[in-house]
Amino acid sequence: MIRKMLMSFTGLMLMSMCIAQTEDVQITSTKLSETLSMLQGRGGNIGVLTGADGVILIDDQYAPMSARILDAVEAISKEPVRFVINTHWHSDHTGGNENFGGKGALIVAHDNVRRRLSTDQVIKALGRPVPAAPEQAWPVITFSQNLTMHLNGEEIRILHQPRAHTDGDAILYFVNSNVIHAGDVFFNGMYPFIDTSTGGSLNGVIGAVERILALADDNTRIIPGHGPLADKSDLVAYHAMLTTVRERIIAYLNQGMTATGIEIRDPLKDFNKKWGQGFMRPDVWLRIAIEDLAEK
Ligand SMILES: [Zn+2]
Repeated sequence: MIRKMLMSFTGLMLMSMCIAQTEDVQITSTKLSETLSMLQGRGGNIGVLTGADGVILIDDQYAPMSARILDAVEAISKEPVRFVINTHWHSDHTGGNENFGGKGALIVAHDNVRRRLSTDQVIKALGRPVPAAPEQAWPVITFSQNLTMHLNGEEIRILHQPRAHTDGDAILYFVNSNVIHAGDVFFNGMYPFIDTSTGGSLNGVIGAVERILALADDNTRIIPGHGPLADKSDLVAYHAMLTTVRERIIAYLNQGMTATGIEIRDPLKDFNKKWGQGFMRPDVWLRIAIEDLAEK
């Protein structure tokens, strides 16, 4: 019970921090190719595809960021935002949907993103209830597996990743620019959050990372859901961390050990210095990974 209360308190703290801190956040813009840029502010990293066909946004952070996002977009292109593609349903990636959808952008996402945005959700590990979003925020074009869009001279392959960070993740491969937007299957340089209460799993995240590694070459730029712009070597390091942690936990589980027993042995100890300084506290990430793997 106390643990539960602590978790809800952490969740509330995180939520109020997000809202309070959007006030003074600046957006930074990084050009990746003739047509593609990355925007960073508060929340998930945004991809921007521009050209004569209009602006396509990949994710849109929190609602209070929309005006600043639009300013940053207008510095690149004067065309209207025609599409917003969501990598998954979490509000640090879809919070601007209502604003952009209300201005006429068409929102595109996996079927489960629409399902979750249109109904009340709870992110259990963070103790965070998330009420349904208003209808203007819901995706109007949805897909069950993959979708390809051809806009601004770019072939955009939108590839669903089953049971990964959530049950509605998509990665986006911009073939011509050789850029991949990974969404939250990739937290660059830090432990990931995996939302097992809305259909995510560690095995699914690792599977998604392996599919990105198969698409990428040494020149591919990878936009992670969170953290700095990455290349393939960053993703290789992340993959090694995830698979090693999984291997250690499974070995302990196979010995019949409980979650607490595994925590005492601290399977993250040699990783915490490099990977434990981000959004996810090591103890929370470890507990999510153990409980997820124990269920298999
Ligand atoms: Zn997320």
